[in-house]
Amino acid sequence: MTEAEHRFPCDQCGADFRFDPEAGLLRCDHCGNTAPIEMSQTRAEALREIDFEAALAGLSPDEIEEKRLVKCQNCGATVEFEPDIHAAECPFCATPIVTDTGTSRQIKPKALLAFSLTERAAKEAMNNWLGKLWFAPGGLKEYARKGRKMQGIYVPYWTFDADTKSRYRGQRGTIYYVSRTVTRNGKTETIQEQKIRWTNVSGRVARFFDDVLVLASRSLPKAFTDALAPWDLSELTPYTPEFLAGFRAEGYTVELPDGYDEAEEYMERVIRRDVKFDIGGDRQRIDQLNTDIRDVTFKHILLPVWLAAYKYRGKTYRFVVNGRTGSVKGERPYSAIKIAFAVIVGLIVAGTIGYFLAGVE
Ligand SMILES: [Zn+2]
Ligand SMILES: [Zn+2]
Repeated sequence: MTEAEHRFPCDQCGADFRFDPEAGLLRCDHCGNTAPIEMSQTRAEALREIDFEAALAGLSPDEIEEKRLVKCQNCGATVEFEPDIHAAECPFCATPIVTDTGTSRQIKPKALLAFSLTERAAKEAMNNWLGKLWFAPGGLKEYARKGRKMQGIYVPYWTFDADTKSRYRGQRGTIYYVSRTVTRNGKTETIQEQKIRWTNVSGRVARFFDDVLVLASRSLPKAFTDALAPWDLSELTPYTPEFLAGFRAEGYTVELPDGYDEAEEYMERVIRRDVKFDIGGDRQRIDQLNTDIRDVTFKHILLPVWLAAYKYRGKTYRFVVNGRTGSVKGERPYSAIKIAFAVIVGLIVAGTIGYFLAGVE
């Protein structure tokens, strides 16, 4: 069943279709045939939120799917592989992995942002980015430019909605100054000393959170994926496996309740900011904050990332490119020789200037 689900034979020649990001349809590289992607669901159906409490109690079988996921022993990424692939390289860290036949039950993705950037465009974006890094080792740049393949990966995310109402008690600080006369070294002078007057306050704030995005995997550093934001979530399309043809999907490893905890921490930070704004004044203290969180719903979604992992002189370098906007983030490689050279040039320049200055005197 899983086999039939993720293979898309061309109806003319039987070779595999792949999703073409530029045209937004299925394309056969073998014979050039194309096919549109049929949506089995309307957008409204697909984007319908799932009740979080109900999900914790147990999801209905049609929200769950069996996936053939392979875990990388080096970095912990779990990646979906086609059934006919038995040995491959982990797309996240370039370590060879042997695939087994294990399957795991996962909550089905509801929606995704399809790739709109081609591999060529992603590679261009990456090379531009690398090109601007003067300190990057030339060998690495060359290696990246020659072009190992980039991997198009759908990265798993949770999004949460929630309605919150909070009551708080705290204090508003008002700054004022008092004049004080001090005697220093026999001289008398008046100085202004800053003081804060605190008054007790209490109040309420309310906020509806829409689509709080939480990364549902740990295989890429959070700093990487955060840097790929913003995502145009208003463009989410219903999940249809055809979008994954020729791409790879990462399974989530951050379970739903843990994802929710992270979303709640984020909401708490925003609410504290709201409360401080509500308190006003020059300084704010929050002594007590009670938040009532209601109507929590969630979706599991996939976002498109082009990824390159290079092993260069024993180190792994990773680069990620937002599959829609082309924004790039990566490990910053430094060339020791280039840095040493820059330091020496700097010293020579400084020395030369010193020599001339000395000569002028
Ligand atoms: Zn074909
Ligand atoms: Zn790995």
